[in-house]
Amino acid sequence: MSDATDLETLDIPDLGDVPSPQACREERDGRKTTNHINSKCPVCGAGPYNTFAKLRGHFGNMSDDTPHQNYDLRLEAFQ
Ligand SMILES: [Zn+2]
Repeated sequence: MSDATDLETLDIPDLGDVPSPQACREERDGRKTTNHINSKCPVCGAGPYNTFAKLRGHFGNMSDDTPHQNYDLRLEAFQ
């Protein structure tokens, strides 16, 4: 069964790549690119986490854990 009108495809020039919702979320988080690290938590071994943002999120969840809070979490250490 077909409708009377087909949906037209919008052709928008110069739009470029549209970031995914996840990319937008991480961009709001202060990072313009997704940093794939696929690394476990260096403190407790949880994970692995695909991105540095997720690892940071894990540290955020462990805000009442002293070893996590004392750990100097740097992206550079995972690159
Ligand atoms: Zn951990």
